[in-house]
Amino acid sequence: ASRNAAATVHKVLEVLAAEIDTHADELGRIDAVAGDGDHGIGMRRGSRAALTAAAQARDAGAGARTLLARAADAWSDKAGGTSGALWGVILANLAEALGDQGKPTAAAVAEGVAAGAEGVIAYGKAQLGDKTLVDALVPFSDTLTAAVLAGRSLPEAWATASEAATRAAAATADLLPRMGRARPHAEKALGTPDPGAHSFALITAAVAATLAE
Ligand code: ADP
Ligand code: MG
Ligand code: MG
Repeated sequence: ASRNAAATVHKVLEVLAAEIDTHADELGRIDAVAGDGDHGIGMRRGSRAALTAAAQARDAGAGARTLLARAADAWSDKAGGTSGALWGVILANLAEALGDQGKPTAAAVAEGVAAGAEGVIAYGKAQLGDKTLVDALVPFSDTLTAAVLAGRSLPEAWATASEAATRAAAATADLLPRMGRARPHAEKALGTPDPGAHSFALITAAVAATLAE
C-alpha cells in the first residue's frame, strides 16, 4: 500500500514475467497439442521485454501510464505471435485508464481491464466460446467490474475476478477452437485448455497475490 503507482506497475510486471518464466514449458506443451507450441516462448519474450521497458521508464521518473504504455509496445514488438499483439492491446488500454498522476482507483483499473477486453475482441474478432484468451478475459473483466461496483477494494475484487478467470480457463478444455492456429486441428484440442486463456489465468492469480501484499 505504501508503493506509488509506478512502483506497483513495475512490481506487477515483474511478478507477471516470473510467473510466465515458471510456466513457460507447460504453456509450450499445451500450445503444441493443436497449435505451434510457441506460447511459452512468445509469452516469455514479451513479458521480459515489457518488464525491461517499464524499468527504463520508471528509472527515468515516469508515471504508471507511461510505464504501461512502454511495456505494451515492447511486448507486442518483441513477442511475435498472436498473443503478443493481444497483450499489447490489454496493457495499452490499462495505461490509458490509469493515468500518470496519483494512485489509480479500483474503478479506473476495472475500466482499463474492460477496455482491454473490448480492444482484444475488436483486434482479434474472437467471441466468447471460440476457445481463446477472450474466454478468460471477459469473465475476469465482468467479475472485476461487478466486485468494484459492489464496493470491494482492488485486491479483493481482483482476487475474486482471478478465481473466475481460473475456472473459465479450465472450462475452455471442453471447447473446440474456432480462431487462431489451433483451428485446423480443432479435434486434437478437446480436453486441453486454450493456452492463451490458461496463461491469462496464471497471470491474474500471480498478480492477485502481489496486490494483496
Ligand atoms: P500464435 O498462435 O501466433 O502462435 P501464441 O501461441 O503465443 O501465438 O498464442 C496463442 C493464443 O492466442 C491462443 O491460445 C489464444 O488464446 C490466443 N488467440 C489466438 N487467436 C486469437 C484471436 N483471434 N482472438 C483472441 N485470442 C486469440
Ligand atoms: Mg502458438
Ligand atoms: Mg506462433
